[in-house]
Amino acid sequence: MIMAPNPNSQTITITPLFSGSSGNAILVSSEDTLILVDAGMNCKKIVEALNIVRINPFDLSAILITHDHSDHISGLDVFTRKFSIPIYATKDTWSGIHAAERKPHLPSLDNEVIPEEEFTIGNLGIVAFPTPHDTSGSCGYCFSSGSHKAAIATDIGYMTDTIFEHLRGCEGILLEANYDKDMLWNGEYPYYLKKRIDGNYGHLCNDDCASTVAALCKAGTRHFILGHLSKENNLPQVAERTVVRALQDEDLVRDRDFTLRIANRYVPTEPLILGDV
Ligand SMILES: [Zn+2]
Ligand SMILES: [Zn+2]
Repeated sequence: MIMAPNPNSQTITITPLFSGSSGNAILVSSEDTLILVDAGMNCKKIVEALNIVRINPFDLSAILITHDHSDHISGLDVFTRKFSIPIYATKDTWSGIHAAERKPHLPSLDNEVIPEEEFTIGNLGIVAFPTPHDTSGSCGYCFSSGSHKAAIATDIGYMTDTIFEHLRGCEGILLEANYDKDMLWNGEYPYYLKKRIDGNYGHLCNDDCASTVAALCKAGTRHFILGHLSKENNLPQVAERTVVRALQDEDLVRDRDFTLRIANRYVPTEPLILGDV
């Protein structure tokens, strides 16, 4: 049984509910704040996953959206009308959300996120940072509470200096490890799709994820979750091996210098708890 974090301690907890090209929803929580990042599975499945981690959907403080692709917003429409949780997204992402809605939700739930401008929800400080991806308004999020800092960064065409600076100094990060280059280019996808995924506005490959994780670990980050793995062009063990090797090359030892886990595609992953526990 996966347990929700102890509400009395100063923590930031990252609990991936679903992660991958088939749908994304990640719970970020602190002692008094529960935030869902993305709602890219149908409402029933999100509610089931929240039940597994013992969260009542009505207790969510907010939903943050990274961008308007369906694997990040497909459940938002129904979920929002059912539970009336405030939603935060960038201006361009709001255009995509509204275009995809079958029925309008309460406009009072809409909140606009301005990248690089900190805002607070409950006791969490939040900063959105832009990500290069093939839809406008795409972003990742940093979370801070007291001395603790965490980040979620997926759907990244390439690792920009801006993203890296936002990730530097976080204790825990969920970072995209979308595809293995050999599996992609030797796989069944049509050429245009391979080009899109491997391009500067597609996704982050295992090798680039690995070099980023190694650099972040050397800069002090200790806990990593690999997320948004492709179903067709990656395997959890391939992503894990690639990242661990890059860290070993820097003489960084697992469970001494860093922890690493892979976000599960279909069921909640063991929470990563950062803080005074
Ligand atoms: Zn996307
Ligand atoms: Zn995605």
